[in-house]
Order: sequence, then C-alpha cells, then structure tokens
Amino acid sequence: MGSNLQAPRQQLQTALSALRATSDLSLGAVSPVYRSAPLGVAGQPDYCNAVVEVFTDLEALQLLDCLQSIEKQQGRERNATQRWGPRTLDLDLLLYGGYVINSERLTVPHPEMHKRNFVMRPLADIAPDVAIPGLGAAAELARVLGGQGLAPWAEAE
Ligand code: ATP
Ligand code: CA
Ligand code: CA
Repeated sequence: MGSNLQAPRQQLQTALSALRATSDLSLGAVSPVYRSAPLGVAGQPDYCNAVVEVFTDLEALQLLDCLQSIEKQQGRERNATQRWGPRTLDLDLLLYGGYVINSERLTVPHPEMHKRNFVMRPLADIAPDVAIPGLGAAAELARVLGGQGLAPWAEAE
C-alpha cells in the first residue's frame, strides 16, 4: 500500500477497512507503517507505505480487480503521461502464494518489489522467511537494500 496525497496515513487506514469489508478475503498481518522518499517524479510529497497479508480464494486477477476498485473509491487518478506521479492510494499485488504470473494486466511477483526498500522492509517485518520466487527470502533481500530514504511513520502525522 502506498499513498502520498490527502492524508496518506488515513488513506492506508481507509484501504484496510475496505479490505476488511471485502467478501472472500480476510486480513492477516499488517506491517508497521513507513515514510519513504518518492521514486520517479521529483518534488512530490513523501510516501506512506505498508504491506498487508490477505487470505483469499479469489483468483489473482479478481484480487487485482478488488485492489483497483478500492484505489478508485479513494480517488486514485491514473495519469497516462506521468508514471510514478503522486497518488491518493496505490495497492500493488506483491506476491500471490508462490505463483509466478505474467499476463497483460498482472505480473507477480511485482517486478520492482525486490529493488524497493519501502516494500521489502515492511514485507520482511511481517514475513521474513517468505520467498520471492527466483530471488530468495524477504528478510535477506531487505537487509541488502538497507534503509536509505526510509523511516518509521510518526504516529502523530
Ligand atoms: P509500479 O508498478 O512500478 O509500482 P505503479 O504502481 O505506479 O508503478 P500503476 O499505474 O498503479 O503503476 O499500475 C499500472 C498497471 O500495472 C495496472 O493497471 C496493472 O494492470 C498493472 N500491474 C501489473 N502487475 C501488477 C501487480 N503485481 N500489482 C498491481 N498492478 C500490476
Ligand atoms: Ca506501485
Ligand atoms: Ca500500482
């Protein structure tokens, strides 16, 4: 989960409530929340990031539909010309069991996850031993990335 517009911490909280309210899905572990320096477009606010475990019988594409509908409910606007611009809510599907998926709409594992400490750190917090297919365990990948640009999200923010 990521947000850097319109009360980012609250956006994550609202998304968690939306996930809890989704049928055919139950929430597992929720990571600590982090502040991260933005990627891509310069001059945008810092991001608020967390990783969530869900249990579901939904197919991967159905789960993606569900994540995108929550993004839309929370005012996510897609800008065709600007990749990695600011957004109210981004919900990426990082892993789906141990599956590798390469379809037009969905690549799993998320192709950039192992390069991003704001993904790997919170993932390692809740699932240190989870394997990223072909790459190894989350905690080891997070350790190698280090903590540059990453900090705990202060509760008062
Ligand atoms: P990045 O994917 O580098 O984190 P982003 O999250 O800003 O960038 P979006 O604009 O949110 O990118 O998504 C673009 C498209 O990526 C979506 O429409 C979706 O179909 C596709 N996509 C492919 N794999 C995934 C995945 N694992 N999780 C979420 N979306 C994915
Ligand atoms: Ca993303
Ligand atoms: Ca996304």
